[in-house]
Amino acid sequence: MKLDAAIAYARHGIPVLPVHTPDLGGSCSCGRPDCDRPGKHPRLRHGLREASADPHTVHKWWSRWPDANIGLRTGVAMDVADVDSLEGWHGLRHVLDGAMPQGPQVRTGGGGWHFWFSPLGYGNRVHVIPGVDWRGDGGYVLAPPSRHASGTTYYWVVRPGIPLPSAPAALEELIAGPEPPQSTTALGSATIAHPDRYAAVALETETERVAHAPAGSRNDTLNRAAFALGRLIGAGLLEEGLVTRELTAAAAWSGLGRTETVRTIRSGLSAGRLFRCRGVTAGCGRRW
Ligand SMILES: [Zn+2]
Repeated sequence: MKLDAAIAYARHGIPVLPVHTPDLGGSCSCGRPDCDRPGKHPRLRHGLREASADPHTVHKWWSRWPDANIGLRTGVAMDVADVDSLEGWHGLRHVLDGAMPQGPQVRTGGGGWHFWFSPLGYGNRVHVIPGVDWRGDGGYVLAPPSRHASGTTYYWVVRPGIPLPSAPAALEELIAGPEPPQSTTALGSATIAHPDRYAAVALETETERVAHAPAGSRNDTLNRAAFALGRLIGAGLLEEGLVTRELTAAAAWSGLGRTETVRTIRSGLSAGRLFRCRGVTAGCGRRW
């Protein structure tokens, strides 16, 4: 049943990835006793980057793991408004002047809702409004008939048709802006758009390290990576939004919880930036 569904998504051009499965007791097929995202993180070593819309590849994966939850990469064939609470539902309704989206709608196993739209071209946005995250380029969602750790199953309230609806303008406005804070270094946006090779390699190395950190050292690894990359942000070699997105995705693959991830990245990055300021006290404007 999951195999058929996974292949159907792939045939509609949606990159699919096999995700771990929660058992009836709520623990995770990854086997880590401290897994804090049971049934929600990818089974593949390279996670999202291995997502595939090739039906043969998908068939191979679900033959190997027939019970794997179905992850769908967003930002390719669809974007998703991920509403995780009643607060989010009411917030979205408020933003949309009382009219909920008419397109495809999933009831999630966790008691939330997913609304599908044609891709907007933006990346993930956490807390677009309280209780609502946007899953765009570089993100993924679980899809029916995946199972949630609570024991319930994701199901369609409104099945997708073609074409998908556009995101409502009021929602797009929130997703599009305001712009994340820009670096104020003299190096300018050309450097930021094309980080030099050292910075690019550092970003790749650190995110790999975070993605594959063994249980028990994940938060520490994330903190060190954020600190190291924060120094490069301070030097104007990397853009903060990009680093935050990459580290967040890597932490998610490793199984680290979202709250801890956000907190650790924030403190690691700012410590890294401050460290760099120590050497250039003049004009730094920070407490060093
Ligand atoms: Zn797990």
